[in-house]
Amino acid sequence: MLKKLSRASLLSVLALWALVTAAAEDNAVTVAVTPVKVGAHSYYVQGLPGAASSANQGYMSNAGFVITPAGVVVFDSLGTPPLGAKLIAEIRKLTTVPIKYVIVSHYHADHVYGLQAFKAIGAEIWAQQRGKEYLAGPDIRPRLAQRREELFPWVDEQTKVLPADKWLAGDTAFQLGGVDFQIRHVGPAHTPEDIALFVKQDGVLYAGDVVFKGRVPFVGNADSKSWLAALDKLLAFQPKVMVPGHGAVSHDPKADLTLTRDYLLYLRKTMGDAVANFVPFEDAYKNTSWKQYQKLPAFDQANRSNAYNTYILMEKESLK
Ligand SMILES: [Zn+2]
Repeated sequence: MLKKLSRASLLSVLALWALVTAAAEDNAVTVAVTPVKVGAHSYYVQGLPGAASSANQGYMSNAGFVITPAGVVVFDSLGTPPLGAKLIAEIRKLTTVPIKYVIVSHYHADHVYGLQAFKAIGAEIWAQQRGKEYLAGPDIRPRLAQRREELFPWVDEQTKVLPADKWLAGDTAFQLGGVDFQIRHVGPAHTPEDIALFVKQDGVLYAGDVVFKGRVPFVGNADSKSWLAALDKLLAFQPKVMVPGHGAVSHDPKADLTLTRDYLLYLRKTMGDAVANFVPFEDAYKNTSWKQYQKLPAFDQANRSNAYNTYILMEKESLK
């Protein structure tokens, strides 16, 4: 009897153990997250292209980090808690100094769902105060539900969207381990709370989603007037290297910023003229030359809707 019981309990212990290991292995990140050095102290990791899927495990945005003798400053936390933990493990391969701050570029899922991994090791979260609008707004819950669906088990019931420990009001500058950091509020552009981080000694600018490199941007419902103002703020840093929120690092930030800037200006000029002359959108689109842009990546997917959204925006602006 005793033998039977212990055998049964041994089996159940084994079954439980198998279950626990399976769960632990299930949400392990198997995509490669590889830091690339872009300055004396500065690194970034580049997410995979495309939307969030189990193929990319939610790794479809960039993050950066800066190693100083007194601590590490991180810019964005990637799109799931295990990815955040993976980023920490990669930083740990390079340094043992404490990870002090995580600066949030903006409150979009692919940039903030990794925050809880950083919070768990005692890092302080900094974000622009207009990020509170997202935390209190209607988009936060449906997005979390969608990601729990698409990115399970990497995003699950334990995944939370964390508020900042320190909400930033205006522009902020600080020094850590002899490295100078400048944080600039460049929103509202991609979101109301967009911020960029500039590492002065390295000339490295972490720009978040305000920047698209070498391709036609997705304008969406963005207000292109404030977006242009954001691009001018980024240009003012005169960065040597720029890390966008998605895609490869730019070693010619001026050219890349100028491309986005000129494209937005061109949309506003051509669609603005059409609105002023009561030309319907279809005709305006057909009569506009897109020669300069049609060879760029994402032109086919984005240009027509960008032009249309700008046409609507110019109508609204003309009524003001
Ligand atoms: Zn975004």
